[in-house]
Amino acid sequence: MSDPKPDPLGILKGMGVTLRNAFRPPVTEFYPDAPVHFEERYRGVHVLQRDESGLEKCVACFLCAAACPSNCIYIEAAENTGVLRISAGERYAKTYNIDYNRCIFCGYCVEACPTDAITHGHGFELATYDVGNLVYRKEQLLAPVPAAAESSAQG
Ligand code: SF4
Ligand code: SF4
Repeated sequence: MSDPKPDPLGILKGMGVTLRNAFRPPVTEFYPDAPVHFEERYRGVHVLQRDESGLEKCVACFLCAAACPSNCIYIEAAENTGVLRISAGERYAKTYNIDYNRCIFCGYCVEACPTDAITHGHGFELATYDVGNLVYRKEQLLAPVPAAAESSAQG
């Protein structure tokens, strides 16, 4: 059996693709020397969101923990009071931990949340020598208080 003849048109097409891409700017990210660009949908370290008045959106309903296939969300709920209001609902998360030793960034917790309290941010630098550092506390996950809410609270 003889070898198939090379297709000159195919070769030219292939060379064309090579030449076109040889002069395009590189798509490589120069991490850590330059900031990394993310697609909006990238699932990084979670963010616990606040509303426009600075209250926490999480109402401690536990739906995210129930949806999590890795069982890595730990929540302790507490009641809001007239004196101390943390969220807009009846309850808030007194403790909210995510164990990134176990999280697979599937996004099920985000989908399950009825108040859009938990979202994926773009944080990705999780590497550590101590696995204890991979249990993120609420304080590490909470979004900052919006500037408008902070200035109205000051008077
Ligand atoms: S992203 Fe998936 S594994 Fe990680 S906390 Fe959410 S539900 Fe659990
Ligand atoms: S993050 Fe959302 S789903 Fe999870 S406990 Fe809070 S309100 Fe409920």
